[in-house]
Amino acid sequence: MNLILLGPPGAGKGTQAQKVVERYHIPQVSTGDILRKAVREGTALGKKAKAFMDQGQLVPDELVIGIIEERLKAQDCSSGFILDGFPRTMAQAESLDPILQRLGKGIDHVINIEVDTEELVRRLTGRRTCRSCGAMFHILFHPPKAEGICDRCGGDLYQREDDREETIRTRLKEYEKQTAPLIRYYALKSYLRSVRGTGGEEEIFERIVRLLETAPD
Ligand code: AMP
Repeated sequence: MNLILLGPPGAGKGTQAQKVVERYHIPQVSTGDILRKAVREGTALGKKAKAFMDQGQLVPDELVIGIIEERLKAQDCSSGFILDGFPRTMAQAESLDPILQRLGKGIDHVINIEVDTEELVRRLTGRRTCRSCGAMFHILFHPPKAEGICDRCGGDLYQREDDREETIRTRLKEYEKQTAPLIRYYALKSYLRSVRGTGGEEEIFERIVRLLETAPD
């Protein structure tokens, strides 16, 4: 199963992608996670990406396209993958097709998670991330057992630079300008389907599963 999850920042793509991983045993390919790891490790890629990420801007296409091509070649993607946070621009979507073709793969499902803007701002400003293992919490919806401490590994929780309100508004504008057009792009290719991204995590997941287990028209 090769799948793309679309939706604005804060729609719950990461959370839902992890549930898909558990249920279907395919890897989650998140360009955001790969880039954050590169920034933490101070690699050449991380150094180039950091300033864009801190300001809520998209990293240049050629950097992320290179990452994706490498990642999709890996053995663990052979029985499927879930793309989370990629593609984010028309240029990325257009370069994904030949990459997949070269690897003898195709996309089976594109699922778009819909959530309105003010709800997204509320969600994103409350998000806290573990510095050590990357686990995510939310001060309102999914608080850690002890404030500021990761339940999973005991690491320090922090607010990502790109989860501050001003940066969030920039990210949402970038989304409208650069990523929202992909909804039309995939709708025209006829495999896009949308789910409402409000309600409990399980409820949203069940909506996604219903779509994954029926073929697109
Ligand atoms: P995310 O965790 O998916 O919200 O990504 C965090 C940040 O990483 C974004 O705000 C961008 O700066 C960068 N990023 C992640 N994926 C992409 C992508 N496909 N294209 C460009 N920038 C990306």
